[in-house]
Amino acid sequence: MGLYDVHAHLTDRRLAAMEADVLARAEAAGVTTIISNGLNPADNEAVAALAARTPIVKPAFGLYPVDAVLPEMLAMGESYPHDREPLPAEQCIDWVRDHVDACVAIGEIGLDHYWVPAELWELQEQRFRELVSLAMEADKPIIIHTRKAERRAFEVLTEMGATRVNWHCYSSKVKFGRTIAEAGHYLSIPANARKAQNFAQLLQTLPRDRVLLETDCPYLGPERDELNEPKNVAGTAAFAAELWGEPEAQVHERLEANFEALFGFAP
Ligand SMILES: [Zn+2]
Repeated sequence: MGLYDVHAHLTDRRLAAMEADVLARAEAAGVTTIISNGLNPADNEAVAALAARTPIVKPAFGLYPVDAVLPEMLAMGESYPHDREPLPAEQCIDWVRDHVDACVAIGEIGLDHYWVPAELWELQEQRFRELVSLAMEADKPIIIHTRKAERRAFEVLTEMGATRVNWHCYSSKVKFGRTIAEAGHYLSIPANARKAQNFAQLLQTLPRDRVLLETDCPYLGPERDELNEPKNVAGTAAFAAELWGEPEAQVHERLEANFEALFGFAP
């Protein structure tokens, strides 16, 4: 048992370039499990390869909500940074279906109404639904990314009866976050919670048995100009202990139990 990061991007080239150091620093901070989330087939492949040679890393395979409609977005003349020609969604979903047994979760997947133009929301949702039902059939937890589409994503998940769900980096209203938690879903709190009021409020407001730890590294670090790393989940656990007025050891136990309840194995 130990600390964990349910949402890392260790395959990001900035972290991959110093992989051994990043993992050593995580272990030194007490981190025992890092779930590296895939964004598209190429990234899922990289996540799978990393997990195969690194026991502390567990793979989540996904399709980033923007990548899910990227060929259509580019065809419409929208611009979005991408380093290779995006694959059609069907091919991306087939990849996840073919590899579902090898992952500990399906993620990240979700809805993004910020980058994706409204004309493509319906198509994006169809693809999201396909991935949700795939996860439900395989009985895998789902790691959700949403931006400006939290209510719709919650409606879809509720309508489909998905219950093994974690919301990564949830950034909408705190009150609605509580509604999500009361439905039995989990919310993972990133490492910048001490400085980001929304996350601090979530930590204070959510039922404590629905809280998980994440980093979204290399993004969302506690310090502005520092690359985020899994080691930073330790700071979030310490912050939770302060907010909750509980000894740190008790908070660690609680957070471990939450992880095990969702993922079905001890972190
Ligand atoms: Zn992510």
